[in-house]
Amino acid sequence: MTQHMDPIPGLAQVLAFVERARLHPVESTGAAPVTLTADVYNVDGSDTDPKHVPGNKGKTWKELLTKNNIPDTSPCYVTNAPAPADKTHPQFNVGGHVTTDPNGGVIDDSCYLMPMCSWHNNKARDRVKFTHSQSKMLKLTGYMKGELAATFQLRLPSPHPYALLYYAEDLQGWTYRDMTEVQLMTWEQGAAREPRPEVYVIVERVPGPRVTHHVRAAQLPGLPELAATGD
Ligand SMILES: [Zn+2]
Repeated sequence: MTQHMDPIPGLAQVLAFVERARLHPVESTGAAPVTLTADVYNVDGSDTDPKHVPGNKGKTWKELLTKNNIPDTSPCYVTNAPAPADKTHPQFNVGGHVTTDPNGGVIDDSCYLMPMCSWHNNKARDRVKFTHSQSKMLKLTGYMKGELAATFQLRLPSPHPYALLYYAEDLQGWTYRDMTEVQLMTWEQGAAREPRPEVYVIVERVPGPRVTHHVRAAQLPGLPELAATGD
């Protein structure tokens, strides 16, 4: 296994996700288009997604917005708290997590995602009340503060029983792909055609009244390798 000279961006969040999934089943997420006109605040502690890595084309929070018909050409929604002229405003740099809670809290595991510039989305603007004239955004449910876009998105409803979460060197970020039972068996037998990522987690989506997510196997720095098959 290649030694990574630098810590892998986002590894801490993935380790936290795996630990949480081992303790309790991790439930599904949702991303629903809504109209919200209320004032909003940055979600405290949600700025840890390594989304500023140059050239990162991974499944970022911004991509979740554009996939849900919020145009790439949208400006940063914030219309108050003026940014200095040399800053990123009014660019749509990120999908910013916002909440109606002045304390930046996530209410009932829900928050909102809207186009923002990096400057307004910065932690330094936490607890600043934002007004906005555009109101089309996504309501995220099941969101775990600070989690990566990839672990949130792989918990959206899916017909596939498995997801392979992995760190993609070429994207400099975490991404995932869905897997069928047959694809997982092929993977476990080492017969998959694609090169095997060095750093990965296999998540099983367990059906039930509420779908839950279990870690079936993982190979992560800082975590002993889990058996690839059930124990
Ligand atoms: Zn802005």
